[in-house]
Amino acid sequence: MDSIDNKLLNNLLIFDAHCDSANILIENQNNFKKNNSHLDLEKINYGGLKAQIFALWVNPIFSKDKPSDKALNLLDVLEKKVFSLGYGTKVNSIKDMDLSIKNKTLACWIFIEGGHIIENSIKKLDFFHSIGIKGITITHNKNTDWADSSEDSPKWDGLNKLGIKILKRIEELKIIVDVSHSSDNTINDVIDISSKPIMASHSNSRSLCNIERNLPDNIISEIGENGGFIGVNFFPGFLNKNIYDQIINNLNKYKKGYEKKIQENKEKPDFIREIDGDFSKKLIQNNDYLDLNAVIDHVIQIADIGGINCVGLGSDFDGIPSTPIDLKDVSFYPNLIEGLIDGGFNFKEIKKIMGLNLYNFLKKFE
Ligand SMILES: [Zn+2]
Repeated sequence: MDSIDNKLLNNLLIFDAHCDSANILIENQNNFKKNNSHLDLEKINYGGLKAQIFALWVNPIFSKDKPSDKALNLLDVLEKKVFSLGYGTKVNSIKDMDLSIKNKTLACWIFIEGGHIIENSIKKLDFFHSIGIKGITITHNKNTDWADSSEDSPKWDGLNKLGIKILKRIEELKIIVDVSHSSDNTINDVIDISSKPIMASHSNSRSLCNIERNLPDNIISEIGENGGFIGVNFFPGFLNKNIYDQIINNLNKYKKGYEKKIQENKEKPDFIREIDGDFSKKLIQNNDYLDLNAVIDHVIQIADIGGINCVGLGSDFDGIPSTPIDLKDVSFYPNLIEGLIDGGFNFKEIKKIMGLNLYNFLKKFE
């Protein structure tokens, strides 16, 4: 494939809805200019990324250990290693974002990932809003005290009373609701309560890869109908059921040792990250390989069901232990554009998928 024309890349808004890069940068030795992970300045410039939603992800294992402080710690790291050095600009309005892009810095929106981070407190939610947090992912892979996760056994059948109260406040504050990781019942409750469109920042189609973590067609259709947004996740395990099954096999093999180690080292967050890293490597052992056509298949399916205006990128870069072989990090976005062209999308549609849909979605919260 010929490489994408530079002029085209410069004029295209590439805007991704989810990455966990703050958790990479928290390691002392990692900086934003150049690192061994999925997102750094060099790769951003090469790939043409213009804007990114950064998640402040706190492992739900820490849900009783002041997760709000841990999220603030991650924000601090972004402040020190990205914003204060001028590599990116923290934004929380379209006006900020336009200016940041005009000034040729990465426009960085901040979400918190996991409802446990607000510690069941409306006051904490208000506080996060006051410091420029634009969105909240309702759950991670464990239920919270007020909402069910897709990767846990149902406890509340969706949102409970506290969950409904929190949702109403989220809406008052014009914070964006992100339902990636939430159970179907939670998502349906959110759709019932919200008068605003919602997003699933990094979720795929369940009809192509039948796992609870992915979205069923009826939910994709509702999100699209209400003017919402769905970002396609690049993780092979969420793109392809065979790979998911291989991962679950590895998980069952290594889970016990992992959980024991985590329990024993609960007070050592640095060591927990190391354990997590080792565990992730074990999960992807002997997995099949995929190329970016798997991502495009999910884009096509979500566009078919939810409409071409609801689908975009939700890479999950720096949060996933493996990627498609030709979409290894943000520098590979030109490959994805080529793939979309080959997949039959026209330039107008490619613009929407690569970032314009996400931009238009965020505009609805001004
Ligand atoms: Zn996630």
